[in-house]
Amino acid sequence: MKKHNFSAGPSVLPEVALENAAKAIFDFAGTGLSVLSYSHRTKEFEAVLAEAKALFRELLNIPENYHIYFVGGGASTQFFHIPANFLGKKAGYVNTGVWTKKAIKEAKFYGEVEVVATSEDKNFSYIPKGFEIPADLDYLYICTNNTIYGTEYKEDIDCPVPLFADMSSDILSRPVDVSKYALIYGGAQKNLAPAGVSFVIIRDDMLGKVVRPLPTMMNVNTHVENDSMFNTPPVFPIFVLNETLKWLKSIGGVDEMYRRNVEKAEILYNEIERNSLFRPTVAKEDRSLMNICFVMTEGNEELAPEFLEFAKERGMVGIKGHRLVGGFRASCYNACPKESVEALVACMQEFEALKTK
Ligand SMILES: *Cc1c(COP(=O)(O)O)cnc(C)c1O
Repeated sequence: MKKHNFSAGPSVLPEVALENAAKAIFDFAGTGLSVLSYSHRTKEFEAVLAEAKALFRELLNIPENYHIYFVGGGASTQFFHIPANFLGKKAGYVNTGVWTKKAIKEAKFYGEVEVVATSEDKNFSYIPKGFEIPADLDYLYICTNNTIYGTEYKEDIDCPVPLFADMSSDILSRPVDVSKYALIYGGAQKNLAPAGVSFVIIRDDMLGKVVRPLPTMMNVNTHVENDSMFNTPPVFPIFVLNETLKWLKSIGGVDEMYRRNVEKAEILYNEIERNSLFRPTVAKEDRSLMNICFVMTEGNEELAPEFLEFAKERGMVGIKGHRLVGGFRASCYNACPKESVEALVACMQEFEALKTK
């Protein structure tokens, strides 16, 4: 049976990227050796790294005065790297759920944190808007797509202080005005690669604004100066990331990707609204294109385990909602094909027919 992968992360990757990764495990770039056992200090790997950086820059329209680097440790490592480098006195955080809460906790090791806005009052089911941003902050930190709650910023906000963003789960899914951000980062395992590598996009002027002496691996300058090669980078995840970027370019880049993501999300949200058994959990204007959350309608809650089983029997993988939200979450990342979304919709319709006849 065909499987439809809606896992929140690690998640679906383009088939061509997997095929090329499988080949490279046995023969990397015609070397006759595996990419898993090949030195990173070689012209072959350096070419992969250079291509990945160039494609990232091209696809996301990253201006020249920004650097990009890849580093291990996952997004969670950046939760403390960022304040270690840039939180001197006080930073602002917009609290939109689990991932910003974790980032806030780490920031408090380094200085004062002002939560300038939060959506905690409604279980993080919306994106706060129109909040004041104090001018005395070292930076403002946001998470553009909240993987667990299924909310997403639809605009790059104007910010009078350096704006930092966790884009782990919506990077390259939609056009972004990079020039509005001082730093963009994320773990690659949602939209780009297997787990093990993060990307950091940082504006040039920030490199001179590191507020304290730091261990070498924690300092952003180390990674920029050494072009992601201060130590052994996550070679295989970077290889796959590059294959994913090549695929993204081949289908028409971020504009086409965005068009497809909007189309997929519309198909699923429309069904959630139409189907008498399901309802969405997020305010319409803040609904994520990537992580689509829904629950059973009132009175039908007890059908949830049965629907999960029903969907599983039809090949749906990873649609159980996070325990903090309950219900269901279909992660429809870039590489999730429209056919998978249509299969899930068919499954919801079949279940409704069965239960309401
Ligand atoms: C998954 C995720 C993280 C955590 O990533 P790790 O690489 O596991 O540390 C952080 N932020 C967001 C938005 C995520 O989706």
